[in-house]
This record gives sequence, structure tokens and C-alpha cells, in this order.
Amino acid sequence: MTLPTPKAHLQSVADTVAGRSAAEPEFLQAVREVLDTLEPVLAQRPEFIEAGILDRLVEPERQLIFRVPWTDDAGRVRVNRGYRVQFNSALGPYKGGLRFHPTVNLSVVKFLGFEQIFKNALTSQRIGGGKGGSDFDPSGKSDAEVMRFCQSFMTELVHHIGEHTDIPAGDIGVGGREIGYLFGQYRRITQRYEAGVLTGKGVGWGGAEVRTEATGYGAVFFAEEMLLRAGEGIEGRRAIVSGSGNVATYAIEKVQQLGGTAVTASDSSGYIVDEAGIDVELLKQIKEVERARISEYAERRSSARFVSSGSVWQVPGELAFPCATQNELDVDDARALIAGGVRAVAEGANMPTTPEAVELFQAAGVLFAPGKAANAGGVATSALEMSQNAARSRWDRQTSESRLHDIMRDVHASAYEASVRYGRPGDYVLGANSAAFETVAQAMLEQGVI
Ligand code: NDP
Repeated sequence: MTLPTPKAHLQSVADTVAGRSAAEPEFLQAVREVLDTLEPVLAQRPEFIEAGILDRLVEPERQLIFRVPWTDDAGRVRVNRGYRVQFNSALGPYKGGLRFHPTVNLSVVKFLGFEQIFKNALTSQRIGGGKGGSDFDPSGKSDAEVMRFCQSFMTELVHHIGEHTDIPAGDIGVGGREIGYLFGQYRRITQRYEAGVLTGKGVGWGGAEVRTEATGYGAVFFAEEMLLRAGEGIEGRRAIVSGSGNVATYAIEKVQQLGGTAVTASDSSGYIVDEAGIDVELLKQIKEVERARISEYAERRSSARFVSSGSVWQVPGELAFPCATQNELDVDDARALIAGGVRAVAEGANMPTTPEAVELFQAAGVLFAPGKAANAGGVATSALEMSQNAARSRWDRQTSESRLHDIMRDVHASAYEASVRYGRPGDYVLGANSAAFETVAQAMLEQGVI
């Protein structure tokens, strides 16, 4: 059998996916971004072409779509759509979050699940990739409505998950409250206290210390590693952060702990600029406790202003952490950030930077960390939560944060080393994709055609 060249093989995989998933733009974007970087790996490892690794990797092992009926506070029956995409389990049980947001559809869940395979491989924690969610919108719903929705969602999901099968966690719209309701229903239906079936649990009942903070902290640790390699640091630097949810809040907190100043936060209604540095406790009070809009922050703090239109990336800063959602930072934003003197960009969110904007950053010599490496701290800490659940142990905060820090150093090192090995030192997109792909592909190769 004559093998196609790496380039021809990549094109053929891309064409197949484009044909099969024409109506899934986010998924196609995520696949293309990976395929675009793998030619050097395939040139050195033709056995991956021969074994059809990529042809299999781009097709989920299983996709579930289900009806989620629930009753609102007025007694009206509502129906949402639930998803779980079990993408790849070559390295371990499927692992990945649940997103509750009106924009959730199969394309979004598949893009997130595909990215998750690579991210999880980079953590070295032996977990496969999956993702799920619903088009349910928790904002403006009462706690009782959120609880009834979560119970209905779990009534179907329970058939497909388990500590050795598939372990969901949080994502946009799914935090500690939702994980609690989901776990309660799982326990009630199965009559089993299987703590390792969900991560992001409350620390009093099986959750890990620092899991809440892990994704945001991890993204800042990754940025710090990139800067340290270049002989620089975070101290004294001004950071622009988007979002005001789980990832953004703790990215801001860690920037400030390391001596930087984060001056922005945002939500879907606009952004705030606080030249004195974001008051993290006030931000948590408004977003986590009161679940209010970000404009409220400016109402309560004289050094802050609220901007309801335009982009947060117009605010100049040396560090940028996109921590809200996909495709939130485009070429115009990248141009503005570069003009404002940005030195490093680390993606806290999944795929927040458009491909054209990534190219601009790289061409301008800006250190750029893709989400699958920079935001891997969340899932890595989830894997540590699973280990603690299995061992019925609990680590203290200091141990947990120091394990997270070590993992982020390792993720950085393997992405950087792969970028050197494949001829583009400092290209973390190529490095992260190549290092992760090699790990998953080798496991698939050894496990046969399944
Ligand atoms: P949260 O729900 O806690 O916060 C999301 C934030 O982003 C909110 O401020 C929200 O504003 C804003 N946002 C969401 N969608 C949009 C939109 N379409 N337009 C503008 N703003 C929007 O989610 P997380 O912080 O957990 O997740 C943020 C990102 O990080 C996502 O890309 C997620 O996939 C990624 N991620 C999360 C991990 C985790 O551990 N939680 C792990 C790895 C990645 P509003 O409230 O107005 O909607």
C-alpha cells in the first residue's frame, strides 16, 4: 500500500470532516486548527497515517442527544435539548464539562469535546475527552428551576456516565450549584455514593481544594512560564481579562497575587475598567453571590467605569487573558492589543481567539498560549479530585495548588519542547497540538482499530 504524503492525508481528512459536518462551523474550526499543525508529526510518524489515526480521531466514539423536560415556577412545562459527546477514550474514561447556555448545539459540544481530547492528553492524567451540555439558560432562573432542570438532565445522563466510563464537570453556566443538584439526582437514582462520577463538587462532600480556582490560576501560571522562558515576569504588568465567571475571576485573582494589575472584566452586557485594579472580593460578591450584571461593579466602585458597547480588547495592556467564550477576540481586537503593547496572550476560555487573530499575534512576536494548554489546569485538578475520591483522601489547599502549579509547568514544558522538536520554537499552538496528538495517537495505535 502506498501511503499518501502527510499533506495529502491531512487534506483528505479535512475534506471528509467538512463534507460530513458541513453545518458545524465551530467543530470544523477546531479540527482545522489542529490539522493545520500536524504535518511535521506525520512526516516523522507515517505509521499514524497507515493506522488511520486521524480518520478515527475526528469522529466521536458516541454522540447522545436527548430531551430534557422540566417545569418552571409558573407550572409551565419547558423542554430543552441535552447533549453528551463521548469523543475519545484511548487514554482513559471520557472527561469534560457540561455547558448550559442558549448557544449550545451539537457543533459547539463537538468542538469542545474535540479540544478536550488534546487538553486532557497534555495533563498526563490518563483521561479521555468528552463534553456535553444543554441550550438551557440558567440566567434569570430561580434556584428551584435550575434544580428541576438539573434533575431532569441527570435522569437521562445517568445511563451514560460512571467513574470508569465518563466523568462530567462544569463549564459555562455550570458551577458548584449545578454540580450539586446533578450529583444529588445521580445518587438518588443509582443509590450509590459514587463521588468520582462528577468533579467540581463542594469541598465538604468530595470536591478538591482549588478546583474552583484551577482554570484561571492555571492560565496565569502558564503565562508566567512563557514569560519566565523569555526572562520576563508578571510583576508590575497590566492585564486585560474578559469574562467575569469562574475562569476570569480566578485569573484576575492570580494576576494580582503575582504582582500584576488586572484592570478589566466583562459579561455579555459590556465591560468594566478599573484603573486601580479589580477588587476581586467585590467582583465575587456581585457575580458569584448576587448573580448580578457587571455594570453593578462600576456602581459600587469610584475608580471603575462601565462600557456597554465595543470590545474589552480596545483597552491597552501587556497581558491578555480571554476567559469568556469562543471567537471573542478577532483580528481587529488583536490589532488593538498589539498596538497597545501586548506581550503575552493566554487563553482561559476555549478557542476564544479567531485563527486570523492567532496568526497576527504570532507574526508580531507576541507569546501566545492556546486554550488547550493554558486552561488545562481545570481538568487536571478535576483528575486530582478523582484520585482523592478513589483513595478516600483529601489534600490541603497548599498541596493542591502546588500540584496544579507543577502540572502547568509540565504542560508548558511539553508544549515548548514539541515546538522545538518540530522546528518552530515558541509556537505553542503547534507544540501543544503535536505533543497531545503524539500521546493520543500512540495509545490508539497500540489498542488496535476500534
Ligand atoms: P462562567 O459561566 O462561569 O462564565 C462565563 C463568562 O463569560 C460570563 O462572564 C459570561 O457572561 C461570559 N460569556 C459567556 N458567553 C458569552 C457570550 N456569548 N458573549 C459574551 N460573554 C459571554 O463560565 P467559565 O468561566 O467556567 O468558562 C469560561 C470559558 O472557559 C469557556 O470558554 C469555558 O469552556 C472555558 N473553560 C472553563 C473551564 C472551567 O473549569 N470552568 C475549564 C476550561 C475551559 P454572561 O454571564 O453575561 O453570560
